[in-house]
Amino acid sequence: MTAQFILYLLIGFVLLEALVSGVLSWLNGTWMSHPIPAVLEGLYDEEKYEKQQAYMKANRRVGRIGSIVSTVITVVFLACGLFGWLDNLFKSVTDSVYGQICLFALFLQLFGTLVELPFSYYSTFVIEERFGFNKTTHRTFWLDTLKGFILSYVLTAGLVCVIYWLYDTIGDGFWLWATGVCVVFIVFFSIFYSNLIVPLFNKQKPLEQGELRSAIEGALQSMNCRFKDIYVIDGSKHSTKANAYFTGFGPKKRIVLYDTLIEQLTIEEVVAVLAHEVGHYRHHDTLKNMFTSIVTVGVYLYVFSLMVSSPLLPEALGGTAPSFVLSMVAFSQLLTPISLVLDPLMNSVLRRAEYAADRYATAYGHGNPLISGLKKLSAHALSNLTPHPAFVWFSYSHPTLAQRIISIQENQKKL
Ligand SMILES: [Zn+2]
Repeated sequence: MTAQFILYLLIGFVLLEALVSGVLSWLNGTWMSHPIPAVLEGLYDEEKYEKQQAYMKANRRVGRIGSIVSTVITVVFLACGLFGWLDNLFKSVTDSVYGQICLFALFLQLFGTLVELPFSYYSTFVIEERFGFNKTTHRTFWLDTLKGFILSYVLTAGLVCVIYWLYDTIGDGFWLWATGVCVVFIVFFSIFYSNLIVPLFNKQKPLEQGELRSAIEGALQSMNCRFKDIYVIDGSKHSTKANAYFTGFGPKKRIVLYDTLIEQLTIEEVVAVLAHEVGHYRHHDTLKNMFTSIVTVGVYLYVFSLMVSSPLLPEALGGTAPSFVLSMVAFSQLLTPISLVLDPLMNSVLRRAEYAADRYATAYGHGNPLISGLKKLSAHALSNLTPHPAFVWFSYSHPTLAQRIISIQENQKKL
């Protein structure tokens, strides 16, 4: 195998990914005029359905342009050997590999953010604004972008430096230790996400005593689910779209409700959404997902350890000397086709877990409010009622609304 061959492979992978996502998005578009499933009749009136179709078209257009821009940029970077040129540039700035890693990570992130910014700005202040979802002020938008940038930079550069240090100190077996570091990292952030990350972007406060709180506490008690507290997060600071989730582990877990969820749903419906979340908790879905990501990271790091010392990877990117950073960039590009296989696989596992969580909520008598709650949330979010099956199979982490309703109704019949 030559460096030239790897370069062609990398470019081929980038084009393949763009082609697959382009075809899927096109297929999805062809189903826009498909008849609405019977269980969803009447969800939108005619005017609202037209609005939904316009919303989808606007999003698709931005998505397509974004995908073309990022594909062209990546191909140009690969074909012109710009990654190698950057590597040499940073090597002339500092002799320290750690310094080179920090500079490279800074460049990649700055560049990525600059390319993405016009799209996220347009999405937030033009599309979401036009369709009445946006609550983000310009100040919040820029502050969030800055905070997200710093957070992501510190974590990425820090993690790559640690992995390099392990590689430099231990040699071949470094991947096992690096996986260990990632495990600590993943576990730490899933435990302290609410305390460390959320406060950077949102305010959360305990849910006040009252009808809703008593209803939630009563329902959770009947499902024998213990928790530390119920929090309300100011999702309305960003968008009118709603959500709820559990965070933390064991009796320390907390329930987090978006203020928008409380506004849009009745008490019964909020409780049903939470019963679904309890279902996830009972089925250990968070732990399973965490385990899957740890195994995936471990496998990736192992394969990376087999390739890291080969001069072919840096050479393929236009590098003129061995380089840990270039090997890592090339390796992450080589992973593209794997994600084309892994994503649909992971999504089908996630969708199964969603059905199971719905089944759990239904078994505790929350089937009907769950259906009406899901319908309200979908209608409010202008969800697509007729996604193409291939698109769903590939990229939906949840079953479609129609699939969920049919499954809940079938489970109700079995009770
Ligand atoms: Zn769920």
